[in-house]
Amino acid sequence: MAKHLARIHGTEEDKVNCPFYFKIGACRHSDRCSRLHHRPAFSPTILIKHVYRHPVRVAELEQAATASNAQDSSSNNNNNNNNSSNSNSNSNTSNPSKMDKMKAFEDFLCFYEDMFLELSKFGRIDELHVCDNLGDHMIGHVYCKFFNEEDASDAMQVMNGRFYEGRKMEVEFSPVTDFREARCRDFDEEACSRGGFCNFLHAKPVPTPLIRSLEADSEMDRRREEDERRDRERDERRARKRERRDRRERKRSRKQSSSSRRSSSSKSDRSVSRSRSRSPEGGGASDDDYSDKSD
Ligand SMILES: [Zn+2]
Ligand SMILES: [Zn+2]
Repeated sequence: MAKHLARIHGTEEDKVNCPFYFKIGACRHSDRCSRLHHRPAFSPTILIKHVYRHPVRVAELEQAATASNAQDSSSNNNNNNNNSSNSNSNSNTSNPSKMDKMKAFEDFLCFYEDMFLELSKFGRIDELHVCDNLGDHMIGHVYCKFFNEEDASDAMQVMNGRFYEGRKMEVEFSPVTDFREARCRDFDEEACSRGGFCNFLHAKPVPTPLIRSLEADSEMDRRREEDERRDRERDERRARKRERRDRRERKRSRKQSSSSRRSSSSKSDRSVSRSRSRSPEGGGASDDDYSDKSD
């Protein structure tokens, strides 16, 4: 029985655990799902929700804003020209020009670079993926898998609630650790018939040379930080050593001055005792008086 449950865990056969949440870390039913979304307490992967502003969504919002503006102006001015302007903006967004596409791609690469460098401050990144999906439960999601689970935990604690381009980031641990299970194979072969509303991960393609150069940059940053940390520690160690030496020196010099005073006082002791031996009747100060003074 246990073996059977383990085999079907997170698959379509599993009637308890949601296979989509288990594999992709996102399910279109969200909290209303009839199956369990088991959020991990720890994971090497974090999910930053909806942080990438997908150009299709941005265009939709702009279009909606233009439409409502046009509607406002038409209701105010009662003119008939808004129909043509509406159809114009429609054609603009549904058939984005080559220039728009190129700009969107450039923007995406800048975003990817930003995310990579920011997240790699917490540790070495194994994989970083940005969702190209359009479904509300996946749009703009960013997955980051670290080599080290503790780095993921640090990243989640620091990034969650922080702002990116004016929007608060919502970060959580993701159950996804094997992206081969999460990714849509059809999309990777440029043949997904479900398009943006597919429920498997459509990871936006990133040129490999860019990833390699980001890895090299962040590795260099980490090494520089490590060197700086080591230098700082060495300086602190040296300062402590110097302080200890100074303290010893001060102690020694105090001892020396006191012992020299003592030796001079013992000389006077001797002279006193000599004078006393010479004139035994003239004793006033005892030896104890001098030794007290030298202390
Ligand atoms: Zn679900
Ligand atoms: Zn797909």
